[in-house]
Amino acid sequence: MLSYQQARQTILDKVGEKKGPRATEPVRLGEALGYVLAQDVKTDREYPPFNRATRDGYAVFAADVKPGTTLKCTGEIKAGDRANKELWTENCVHIMTGAAVPPGADAVVMLEHTSREGDQVRFEREALAGQNIVARASEARAGQTVLTAGMRLGYGELALAAQVGAVELQCAQKPRVAILSTGDEIVPVESLPGRFQIRNSNSVSLAAQVRLAGGKPILLGNAMDREDDLAAKIKRGLQEDLLVLSGGVSMGKYDLVENVLRSLGAEFFFDAVAIRPGRPAVFGACSGKFVFGLPGNPVSTMVTFELFVATAVDLLSGTEPRELPLMQARLAEPLHEKPGLRHFLPARVQRQGSDLIAAALKWHGSGDIAALGKANGFIVVPEDRETMDAGEPVAVLMRKELL
Ligand code: AMP
Ligand code: MG
Repeated sequence: MLSYQQARQTILDKVGEKKGPRATEPVRLGEALGYVLAQDVKTDREYPPFNRATRDGYAVFAADVKPGTTLKCTGEIKAGDRANKELWTENCVHIMTGAAVPPGADAVVMLEHTSREGDQVRFEREALAGQNIVARASEARAGQTVLTAGMRLGYGELALAAQVGAVELQCAQKPRVAILSTGDEIVPVESLPGRFQIRNSNSVSLAAQVRLAGGKPILLGNAMDREDDLAAKIKRGLQEDLLVLSGGVSMGKYDLVENVLRSLGAEFFFDAVAIRPGRPAVFGACSGKFVFGLPGNPVSTMVTFELFVATAVDLLSGTEPRELPLMQARLAEPLHEKPGLRHFLPARVQRQGSDLIAAALKWHGSGDIAALGKANGFIVVPEDRETMDAGEPVAVLMRKELL
């Protein structure tokens, strides 16, 4: 059985092999968060477009200013003003953060290092040429590439695009991820379940995880545990870029997903991983598309998506796969787990002084969604550890949307 790292490597290899250019579409800046850029973005002018003061203070000729110097303040420049006040020797100009430094001045002295009476400003320290000024064009030249195709657009990248006036960006289309739950007991979340039925929470969590991973969820509802229904809905899912199934991959009599996939010609790259929850997770390809069969217990579905599917979505988006959001913490209490599998235990990580402390939550196994309401991560217990002590360092797979 593969370790989860080997399983991830398999996905990186297999999906990476098929990585090609994606179709692109124009996206308005306000909608572009999480898209992968398909164009380069260049500056429309120099940045900054003028010598910019980075402090409130006085614009001076640095050579004029020694400790104890007094200069006459001849005016004021605020952000947005034209810097048309020429500065003469023996004078200074009151200047605000973000304002253009007037011609001739070569330093800004912070207000905190001055005192003022009337128009006379006394300087406590010497001034150094260039201080508290960002020189024109020092951040970027006009026409310089500041964002490149293949970058994922986060808030910083969007701000940069906004700064240079790129209000519409050519982006790679998000991978379309078909989501299909399985199980005779599953009913839509809108309907009232019968006593022995349960609502389709996996389709909801999977759609949210697909969005967080940068994909576009395509909800295909639920397939009954019957070969004909499964085959029909799987075929529909194979029309999208990626198909993610939940349930039906364990050893039970009605766990038919692998069989049906095989009958449709699927090739499997793994069909078990040495983890708990999530051991029966399946990854393969069918009709030229990648397919994941995730175990149906909700926490298993969530953990295996984070460990495996998110990486495939990254690759299919046309960008570099992101690392797992692992953090180091200390165990709040001792742990006892069955060795042989790597465990991912719902946990609450909290700061205590300079330490992060991870407390495993009481739970009733991988069907216990209630535990997730309190967990901001999963403690990762190595497969060779039967017990771990309180205070031991431990890795925690964080829920990145809560970080
Ligand atoms: P399975 O992997 O099909 O054996 O399902 C394992 C457990 O997960 C069962 O208790 C199912 O009822 C539950 N389960 C399966 N699919 C879903 C779903 N879509 N939403 C919520 N729970 C599910
Ligand atoms: Mg089932």
